[in-house]
Amino acid sequence: MICLKTREEIELIRESCLLVSKTLARVARIIQPGITTSELDKEAEAFIKNNGGYPAFLNYRGFPNTLCISVNDTVVHGIPSNYKIKDGDLVSVDCGVEKNGFFGDSCFTFLVGDVSNEKTELSKITFNALQAGIELAIEGNFIGAIGNAVHSYVEKRGYSVVRELAGHGIGRKLHEEPDVPNFGKQYRGNKMVAGMVLAIEPMINAGTRRIYQLNDGWTIKTFDRRPSAHFEHTIAVGFERAEILSTFDFIIEEVQKNKFLWQNRLQ
Ligand code: MG
Ligand code: MG
Repeated sequence: MICLKTREEIELIRESCLLVSKTLARVARIIQPGITTSELDKEAEAFIKNNGGYPAFLNYRGFPNTLCISVNDTVVHGIPSNYKIKDGDLVSVDCGVEKNGFFGDSCFTFLVGDVSNEKTELSKITFNALQAGIELAIEGNFIGAIGNAVHSYVEKRGYSVVRELAGHGIGRKLHEEPDVPNFGKQYRGNKMVAGMVLAIEPMINAGTRRIYQLNDGWTIKTFDRRPSAHFEHTIAVGFERAEILSTFDFIIEEVQKNKFLWQNRLQ
């Protein structure tokens, strides 16, 4: 069942999303070659807890950490570890927060130092694909319109869409109905109405769309070991346009100040 949200509930989800965005901005401030993914995770966990929230991924179905940190050929669900980030890495950082009984979810892909053109292009394409999907999250369209916009944008440019994983409804739970696939036909799925809150999250590969899972039960990687990028916003479906409840503004502000992130140009 799809659970529609009241204005008050949407504002509470926005508050959780704001904490997610500010947490990702903390990551943007300290990410650099030599820092381990688990150091980034610890910073995020402390920041969330100090701001009245709880990390939504921590212990979710046994996930051991606060952030999913997915480097280069890792698509999603990378587990923080003692891996030291290297110059040239593409690092997607996914974060969820519960606050006041409501969830927020967002992901940003960072380009650290001297990254390849392939990674820069992939990151831009994924960012733009997210925007293309969000533009269609309006009352009267079908859920399928979002995925149709994402895959049309991406495949036209020679990149591929991961199909096994999808966006989702969000609210009192991290994952609610409906699924929001990043591919498919325009008229598929439920008709959208204002008050639906969705996490839209294209996962885009530079090469093949094929993926596999490591036997840690989480980490998803590209089959051909080429890079994958991931951006995510939590949005509320609107009458004329979607309301974006998470924001990249704080992140981009920190990106601009971090000399190791000079290649992060999204438009
Ligand atoms: Mg997420
Ligand atoms: Mg999500």
